[in-house]
Amino acid sequence: MSVRVDPSFLPTLKRFGAFDISGCFNCGNCTAVCPYSQGTDTFPRRMVRYAQLGMKERLAASKEVWLCYYCGECSETCPRQADPGEFMASARRYFISQWDLTGLARRLYTSTPFTFALMALLAVVFVGIFLASGGRANPDKLDLLGFIDLEWLHYAGILVLALAGLAALANMANFLKNFIENLPPLPKGKEGMLRDAWEALKGTVLELAAQRKFVDCHSQMTEGEPWYLSRRWIHLSIMWGFLGLWGATTLDLLFKEPGSYVPLWYPPRLLGTLAGLALLYGTTAALLHRLSRTGGSAFARSLLSDWLLLGLLWAVALSGFILEIAVYLPADSPPWGYAAFLMHIVLALELLILIPFSKFAHAVYRPVAILIHEFWGRRLGRGGEAG
Ligand code: SF4
Ligand code: SF4
Repeated sequence: MSVRVDPSFLPTLKRFGAFDISGCFNCGNCTAVCPYSQGTDTFPRRMVRYAQLGMKERLAASKEVWLCYYCGECSETCPRQADPGEFMASARRYFISQWDLTGLARRLYTSTPFTFALMALLAVVFVGIFLASGGRANPDKLDLLGFIDLEWLHYAGILVLALAGLAALANMANFLKNFIENLPPLPKGKEGMLRDAWEALKGTVLELAAQRKFVDCHSQMTEGEPWYLSRRWIHLSIMWGFLGLWGATTLDLLFKEPGSYVPLWYPPRLLGTLAGLALLYGTTAALLHRLSRTGGSAFARSLLSDWLLLGLLWAVALSGFILEIAVYLPADSPPWGYAAFLMHIVLALELLILIPFSKFAHAVYRPVAILIHEFWGRRLGRGGEAG
């Protein structure tokens, strides 16, 4: 493919993160230690070089941007403090905003006042809608559906999911177009295509479920720190906690009468409680690492986008637990149960609507990038190394 050079690319990219790769002198230390760098791949050094030369299209088509877990190993070993790990994170932020057709992601990543204003506006709109739907806080008994009307809650949820889903689909189409058209052409012939697709899917699911590449990264754990404070476990807790809560909510919607009482050991409720604990643990550990700047270079620098995603996930998990305590307390109707309910659903809707535009979008792009990478690699017969 012809290579276009955009001299304004690096200054633009810098607006999406606090890194300075101008000191990079191409020594290759980062490539030597990166757990994803195999065979002929020179990752992340090659990505740094693309950015230095203004080769935006090359970087856009790089699977490595999405494969990187930000374990921080490369940044720890860079002799020029060029922070290649933060560079990779900034590239992800930049491309999340590039693939977003609404322009919302770019504003969220680059403007603090805009982010606060949007979050406040969404909160005011959701609180207003829900209080207008019912707003009767029965003092004798915790009657959540008298406080917020079930239909309003239902339609607000559908509307938010539809909007976020449409935006995510449009962004994904944009991502795929740029990503695939720059990959090497596949060999002709369909022989073994289904087997390759199945193997690629299996490899992707296994990698995502256990995040095994993290194990090869020594910087994901600070020396002397217990395993459960490693970046891998924190990330796994957040991911499985969120997925578990999603599953429990879906099961509740499918099989439980809205507003009806179920014991704590009712399977979807139990799943929700365990998943909520995992999410609360992972987000609390990550927030503490970021606040104290401990836990490796990946936690040393935090942008508003990091705080926003972690803070929302943490607040959703915590308000869910407060609500659960209110529901299962033997004493009737603690007034804070209504506040916890309102806070929980407003924050959950804010979180969902931001999925295509925030750091959360990496959870959509990464699986697709890994799947394509695995499939292309198998078709090209290079043992999983495409591009
Ligand atoms: S280790 Fe640092 S200086 Fe060396 S190639 Fe990587 S980013 Fe550049
Ligand atoms: S942060 Fe980790 S996975 Fe990402 S490029 Fe650096 S060493 Fe590789």
